[in-house]
Amino acid sequence: MELFFDEKNQLGVKNINRTHTIKDFLTANQKFLQQHPLSCFECENNCCLCDWDIELDHVFVNRYQKKTGLPKSEIYKKYIKLNRLKKPVFAAETCEFLHSSGFCEIYAIRPFICRGFTCYDENASYTLLQNIILRILNNILKIQLLSFKKEISYFRAAEKMGFDVFREVPYANVNYDINIYQQIDLFSSYITEYEHKKLKKILE
Ligand code: SF4
Ligand code: SF4
Repeated sequence: MELFFDEKNQLGVKNINRTHTIKDFLTANQKFLQQHPLSCFECENNCCLCDWDIELDHVFVNRYQKKTGLPKSEIYKKYIKLNRLKKPVFAAETCEFLHSSGFCEIYAIRPFICRGFTCYDENASYTLLQNIILRILNNILKIQLLSFKKEISYFRAAEKMGFDVFREVPYANVNYDINIYQQIDLFSSYITEYEHKKLKKILE
């Protein structure tokens, strides 16, 4: 998988197939940013401080738990809320991990949204792929949050949310080694038919 600037000078993704994982997407992103660095040090709009919700993912939560040793219940209560779109986001209005110097205190384990973010203009395929990955990750975390809140198993929580509970959901992942194509099918009820068709085409 590779990122590139398309003919309209928008960020795009190419050479992607069914074997690719979320980790591959992040690796391609990192490689691209090394070749086309952003001017973060001179930037006046620190994106960590912008007025938007920082969406969270279960891989970040699992890594944060591993790093701090805090129980998941405490992490859920202290750091996460569902926003008005029912997406899991940081509970605090300003990210608690942003140091006064402007650096991220948890850079090595920062959430997917912070890793995959670029302020380059993106084309529709790139935006779709990124949004779908985020939705997959959000939904896995939402299953975990529901399981905690209702004191039911992940299996029961997934069923309640309308997911295909017979498929493998990678709850315990501490890395992003998650096959995108397989997860698109699992979460197909959360993806429109148009998005589903377009994604499958991108991943062919
Ligand atoms: S990613 Fe973009 S918006 Fe964020 S600090 Fe860097 S240059 Fe600024
Ligand atoms: S986790 Fe780090 S990169 Fe993400 S918003 Fe907070 S300070 Fe910024």
